[in-house]
Amino acid sequence: MTDLSSIQPRSPIELYLKDLHERHLNFREGQVADYIPELAGADPDWFGISIVTRDGHVYEVGDTRQPFTIQSVSKAITYGLALEDRGESLMLSRISVEPSGDAFNAISLKADSGAPFNPMINAGAIATCGQVLARDGLSRIERILAYLSACAGRRLDIDEKVYRSESDTGHRNRAIGWMLRNFGIIDEEPTDILETYFRQCAIRVTCRDLAMIGATLANSGRNPLTHEQAIDPEFVDNILSVMSSCGMYDYSGEWLYRVGLPAKSGVGGGVLAVLPGQLGIGIFSPPLDTQGNSARGIRVCADLSRDLALHLFAPGAAPVNALRLSYDGGQVASRRHRAKKLHDLLRGKGHRIRVVELQGELNFPAFEPVIRFVLKQAPYCRHVVLNLRHVANIDKVALKLILDLRRRLAEAGVDMVLCNAGLFADDMIEQGIGREALFVDDDAALEHCENALLASLTGTVEPGTTRVPLAESTLLAGIDPADIEWLDRRMPEHRARAGEHVIRAGEAGDSLSVLIEGSVGVYLPSPTGGKPKRLEVFDAGRSFGEISLLDGSERSADVIALEPICYRVLDLALFEQLGSERPALKLKLLEQLCRQLSGNLRKANIEIAAFRE
Ligand code: GLN
Repeated sequence: MTDLSSIQPRSPIELYLKDLHERHLNFREGQVADYIPELAGADPDWFGISIVTRDGHVYEVGDTRQPFTIQSVSKAITYGLALEDRGESLMLSRISVEPSGDAFNAISLKADSGAPFNPMINAGAIATCGQVLARDGLSRIERILAYLSACAGRRLDIDEKVYRSESDTGHRNRAIGWMLRNFGIIDEEPTDILETYFRQCAIRVTCRDLAMIGATLANSGRNPLTHEQAIDPEFVDNILSVMSSCGMYDYSGEWLYRVGLPAKSGVGGGVLAVLPGQLGIGIFSPPLDTQGNSARGIRVCADLSRDLALHLFAPGAAPVNALRLSYDGGQVASRRHRAKKLHDLLRGKGHRIRVVELQGELNFPAFEPVIRFVLKQAPYCRHVVLNLRHVANIDKVALKLILDLRRRLAEAGVDMVLCNAGLFADDMIEQGIGREALFVDDDAALEHCENALLASLTGTVEPGTTRVPLAESTLLAGIDPADIEWLDRRMPEHRARAGEHVIRAGEAGDSLSVLIEGSVGVYLPSPTGGKPKRLEVFDAGRSFGEISLLDGSERSADVIALEPICYRVLDLALFEQLGSERPALKLKLLEQLCRQLSGNLRKANIEIAAFRE
């Protein structure tokens, strides 16, 4: 016998990365940094490549778990923390965001203001450290370490030896610190700020961590594995912008031209690159080129970008239309089986409910066509349901547009509700969408719209009919009064309290029930012992349990009274008695059941067609 589990096909992406790694293994240009003595011990052959997707899948090859110090890669992330602490305008007034055209350690400050050119060179990064606040009982470095750890999704630590080594020899950075003090860019003596900076550079990471931090940036600042909002999404674009224009020092222009990804390198040999909204890349290879970037890292990134067409400005990155699927309430009804009158009413007018399923990333380009679509439908409907089940993210602009759209529709008499809002529900409520407009799932939203539609059509507040005599039940529609009377005398009446089981899954099914008063829910017990799933609701006037009566199978679901109910039972014995005493009635009932079942099938077919569209 073949053991199926032994045939595990390799991902073509893993194979590609392996090949890429092999291709660059023998490239030996560059020198391991030695101006921080402790760095000189790095093995020039260490080489890792890691990619983390925005949903947290990790691809890695080579020395991706070898710890090394983050060095300047930290500058990009600490810039985010400083922005969170101080805000954009204060940060811009102290540290510019212009490429400097100088080396990373140049003592270059703007002639007029003394502001460092950008936060990615040492002058700007030291100034940035100075803007981070000691807060909540944590020192600056403790906050930086926690912030970076949240991005990486694991607790990082500091390589004390590298820190000491740099602190003992970092005279040039000290000179920069004092210059910053001289120009009032920092408000205190630079001593603590410089030690913070040296420690920040000595934070230990792996190649995988870099890719994970990149994926966090790609995922609106939320770590894709821990789901922690590590970076305020408001500042993600600020970080990525300075990475794009200044992240690779004096090579930044050519890097953007060739690789086209926001990136940051460090003298420890790390390179972190981000494809915004998509993925993070980490490369680790200690030998550096003359600009202080990982020589092999640059080549690998250039190949990666070309091979996988990752360049930001490559054509063809058209937004995915957020409109996944749309149907109306005539095609797909809620799982509530209503009394015949209301059921027929909905069949005729269900198209006044329009359900729109959205998908992917909701931002301006993706959501704009949805607005056009909904507005085009609006004259024909009273209710719109936006189903967010397949939505990965909603940015601020799209969120505002959803609210605006809802207001405009309301002015035109169209009520818009949302379902499956999940993680976005809190934001929506905060922005002023009432809780009553948010539903757990599409069925709940549909049912709400149907109720509202029926209320307006029938002029009653509560469209549900509480009592439907046996004669008016859907099952007995069109049957002779004499036959109904015959049945009425023989079908016993039962009652159940709210919450009581009427049918249990697994029991023998030997009867059908006609609901006279109240409603019941059909629940599928969860195989894992979780919350049972509500499949359907039957209102008074409808019957349930007929399938087991017809095919003799056991009950597949629980039926539970949703309120005090009254129901009449037609069991197998009575069904057989019908055969001998009233064969014509039995035939009629069977016809009626057939009609009901084919109605259900027809409904299911229409639904399937609507979902396939
Ligand atoms: N700690 C290093 C320095 O300040 C960081 C430089 C870098 O990685 N480019 O010199």
